[in-house]
Amino acid sequence: MKVLTMFNRYILLFAIIEVLVIGYFFSHFYEKRALHHAEAIHTIQNSFEAAIHAYEMSNDSFYAQHADIMARMLHQASLRPATERDEIRQAMLEQFGTFYNDQKLFSLVVLHVIDAQGDSFLRFHAPKVHGDSIATQRYSLAQITKTMRYQHGLEVGVFREAYRFQYPLFYGGHYVGAYEYGIGFDAIIRTMEKTHPRDYAFFLRSEAVDALCRCNVMQQRYETLTIGEERLYRHRESSYRRYSSEHLLHLMGMRAFQERLAAKTPGVIDYWYDFAHHSVVVLPLSDIEGNTIAFFIAKLTFTHGEELLKSLLIDMALALALGFALSFVYFKEWRHQRYIRDILNTQKDIIIVTDGINIHDANTAMLDFFGYPSLAAFTNVHDCICDYFVDEPGLISKEHNGVRWVDYILSHPHEEHLIKMYDRALKEERIFLPQIERFKSTGTYVVSLKDQTDAFRRRQELEIRASHDALTQIYNRSKFDELLERELQLTQRYQTDVSVIMFDIDHFKRINDTHGHDVGDKVLQALSRLVQNNIRDVDIFARWGGEEFMIITRTPLDQAYILAEKLRRLCSSESFEIIGSMSCSFGVAHYHPTETKNSLLKRCDTLLYRAKTEGRNRVIAKEI
Ligand code: GH3
Ligand code: MG
Ligand code: MG
Repeated sequence: MKVLTMFNRYILLFAIIEVLVIGYFFSHFYEKRALHHAEAIHTIQNSFEAAIHAYEMSNDSFYAQHADIMARMLHQASLRPATERDEIRQAMLEQFGTFYNDQKLFSLVVLHVIDAQGDSFLRFHAPKVHGDSIATQRYSLAQITKTMRYQHGLEVGVFREAYRFQYPLFYGGHYVGAYEYGIGFDAIIRTMEKTHPRDYAFFLRSEAVDALCRCNVMQQRYETLTIGEERLYRHRESSYRRYSSEHLLHLMGMRAFQERLAAKTPGVIDYWYDFAHHSVVVLPLSDIEGNTIAFFIAKLTFTHGEELLKSLLIDMALALALGFALSFVYFKEWRHQRYIRDILNTQKDIIIVTDGINIHDANTAMLDFFGYPSLAAFTNVHDCICDYFVDEPGLISKEHNGVRWVDYILSHPHEEHLIKMYDRALKEERIFLPQIERFKSTGTYVVSLKDQTDAFRRRQELEIRASHDALTQIYNRSKFDELLERELQLTQRYQTDVSVIMFDIDHFKRINDTHGHDVGDKVLQALSRLVQNNIRDVDIFARWGGEEFMIITRTPLDQAYILAEKLRRLCSSESFEIIGSMSCSFGVAHYHPTETKNSLLKRCDTLLYRAKTEGRNRVIAKEI
């Protein structure tokens, strides 16, 4: 049992070590992953910005070359009434049409010129639609009309979405309008895929699209996904197209994803879908006004496997080393325990270790005595060895005087305690002397039970021999003296009655002379049995000497007399073996509290003497 407890402790320690090591591994893992995530966010953001920047540079060179011409044309147009501007519009279309058509092949999707009032002057992508007051509809154009400063950002227009670079145009120091140069997202994605190959996806939020855009045009490039209340447009160009709509719906339905959009900051989302782990960077994109109108998703692959494997191997080696060290300590302790156990098992005494309720350990002497193969087998049936205690007066019982037996023995160190238990193997009761040590530090008791049956029996025999008469087996004179002394003390204390009856066989000498000493002995034995069987258990019966006997009875004189008279009649009417009948004479005296023991005995002896002298076979109780 102790070994098991120790084993449990070992298992616990081992578990703690493993948990620590695994915890260390995971903290390491998460740290690495967080770093990897931060790096990924950074890369994607940079890649996006680099793509924008590349387009910006080429636009700047267009501006440097052509802004003046465009500004002059706009100025000329501004001098004419709105209805007479078509000529200049046509000239502008011719001037930049070739450029527009060339650029359209790979990136340019919007080239749009507005006048100083914010009205659309010329859309290269839709030359027939013009004159509308576009600045009242689109925030960015209202903004540039007001600030007259270069700006760029994502925006959905009347015809399509685009990343727009908006340049102010000046003629003779006066603001005459602006143009916007918009590139499609397919171009940005392609650029990003070239510099940082990954799976990208681009989404537009429907609220940004639906307000202004003529969506039938959008539908060629986008497919619609509905997530709860929200609709999203997924760009068909993106490599994320290989992910099913269900997969994307799952991702976008995640709370972490929604929170990411609300926070407008990039982040990584880890999730499980279709028994596979996924990790994506979400890059929310804002328009010039600051609304999150779109976002990128980029798939991440974990590239730190090798490093992690190395740290896992180190951790495992550490765990193994610690486990090995622990096992070594455990083994040493186990060997020590076994050593102590071996010593305990050499003891013939029953030894148990208990907390007072449950048994923790026991030696083989204990198991042999109770006939169980193991302590577990014993404790399955019994909580305590005290189940076996024979409940007899003078012996320790399970609940002794209302106290647990162990506590009773411990709190009465100066008494002799004996425990009786039935030995099934020997089929007899055995008597044990218990010895208990309490260990305060552990709260346990070590109980040893020494088998004292033989010594106890020898002692009992000696006691009986010392207090009993060998021939008649009744109390001898010295025991009688002792008992009388005690009776007189009790009488004095409790003021109860006690009387003494002394009797003597009449003419016993003759019996001896006639039939021999042996027959005389038999008569003494028969008479003792006869008297013993006819007095009460509490009456004390003793051989006073020769053929004289004594009875102590806790009664007043008259009742003692009646008893003596009964015994006299019994004696005289009994037919003894060989000798036939005989008689006895009796003296009966009642104890006066003032007198001594000797005076009582003297009075009794005198009364018996009188019975003899007055003819024998009689009882004399009164002193005349
Ligand atoms: P009385 O009626 O006056 O008592 O006459 P008695 O013969 O009984 O008295 P006495 O005292 O003269 O004799 C007692 C005899 O008892 C003497 C002794 O040999 C005998 N006696 C004493 N002890 C034993 C004993 O242990 N065994 C036997 N067989 N006889 C005993
Ligand atoms: Mg006699
Ligand atoms: Mg005598």
